Amino acid sequence: MAKHLLSKSTYIRSLQCQKSLYLHKKRPFLRDKMLASQLAKFRRGTAVGVLARDLFPGGIDMTPGSPSQYQKRRVETLEALQNPDVDVIYEGVFQHNEVLIMLDILVREDQKWRAIEVKSSLKLSETFMQDAFLQYYVLKGNQLELSDFELMYIDKDYLLGSQLELDKLFIGQSVMLEAEAHLEQTNSQIEAAKETLLLKNSPDIKIGVQCNYPYPCDFRGHCWKKVPTNSLLYIDAIPPNKRFELYHSGIENVSQLPKEQITTEILAQDKALQAQTYHLNPEKFAFLEANISTSKRSFIKVLYKQPAIPEHENTKPYTPQFLAITALVTDGKKQEFHSWDCSEYPDQWQAGFEFLADLWSKTKVLISFKDAQLRPLLEEFMPHLDSSKLFDFWELLKSADFYFPVINTEIDLEALCAFIIEKHRPLKHEAWLIKDLTASPDENRENVLSKLKSYVSSLNVLVNFFETKN
Ligand code: SF4
Repeated sequence: MAKHLLSKSTYIRSLQCQKSLYLHKKRPFLRDKMLASQLAKFRRGTAVGVLARDLFPGGIDMTPGSPSQYQKRRVETLEALQNPDVDVIYEGVFQHNEVLIMLDILVREDQKWRAIEVKSSLKLSETFMQDAFLQYYVLKGNQLELSDFELMYIDKDYLLGSQLELDKLFIGQSVMLEAEAHLEQTNSQIEAAKETLLLKNSPDIKIGVQCNYPYPCDFRGHCWKKVPTNSLLYIDAIPPNKRFELYHSGIENVSQLPKEQITTEILAQDKALQAQTYHLNPEKFAFLEANISTSKRSFIKVLYKQPAIPEHENTKPYTPQFLAITALVTDGKKQEFHSWDCSEYPDQWQAGFEFLADLWSKTKVLISFKDAQLRPLLEEFMPHLDSSKLFDFWELLKSADFYFPVINTEIDLEALCAFIIEKHRPLKHEAWLIKDLTASPDENRENVLSKLKSYVSSLNVLVNFFETKN
């Protein structure tokens, strides 16, 4: 049986950029190293899909053990469809027009089948719709009589009571009419992707907004290597579309722009870019910095897990839960580390909040970095704690027009410290710490807590750096 050329993921890749599809298939060695943060995102999903099966129990599972089993499972899926004793199929494998898909759940409804694809997200994105259109196209190509095609996702407002109610946790949305209306378009997109794969060389596609949208492309290192580090592509005061338009029209840096197009912000960013340094508005920073200027302050780092399926009563899907907390508490004379991790407590949820309450009593100001979770969590579950003591240093920098010429990577504490602090020792990305602590808490807790101490120490040094320099 003919092997497939495209899968759901390679098809979606082709919609973002045909060159990315080509490189992925023909030149995979050119791929960038995957960022830890991206790796973490890929690990979600499967568990939610398996849980949703409980809504349609008693099915047979067609999940292939390895890619070598795809064709075997495909034949078995077609056989199961004909078997009157089979009413539910999980991960049925189908192929049409050299595209292979696996469908989360198929349920027999009279003489037809109801197709369900499960998403672990709180809303449906354009990518999910395209992915559903492709699945529908392949199912139609297999002459499967469908009663419906549904995307099932998680209700963001679901509140866990004394027990999990799957029928309330998931929301089903029929997309069959849209998928039917897109059949022709889906077919053209498949043909375009297949043509790309027949090319001898990679298609001549210029870098553009597609390099970061909807996903950061993993070939940016390759495609962007000729972009000079002082290019206006790195000036974020210019909207992304405009930057690429200028770049492709031969304008490589801000000095080539007509004067009337150069705003004060663009000029300030360009000055920093050319000098390969940062930019900060000193007046705004001084005003904001006054809020955190006390000797009795703490630097805090929290590791969270965010289960798609709520685990504690009165919590919602993706409500963050504490895995570990470390704070460096200073009082002008001495510094002390205070650490907590979830491994020792039967009721981790409550114990994490108690640790924070104690920490709050010890300090006037708490400084975090790029932590969007802590404040809403405290406001919802510990309203008596004064959340105005908490400051996110990254937010403070941004409010002071901070610009940092980071090239093709995310700005995190590590990127900033490596750039600014002499003799900085690299920090392990929190995605790895979360993975270590979740996989083997007993074995890894000491190591994770020691890394968190390095994290809050670096944050302390970074904050001091900006306070003394500006
Ligand atoms: S980096 Fe941009 S141009 Fe290159 S393959 Fe990726 S999306 Fe396409």
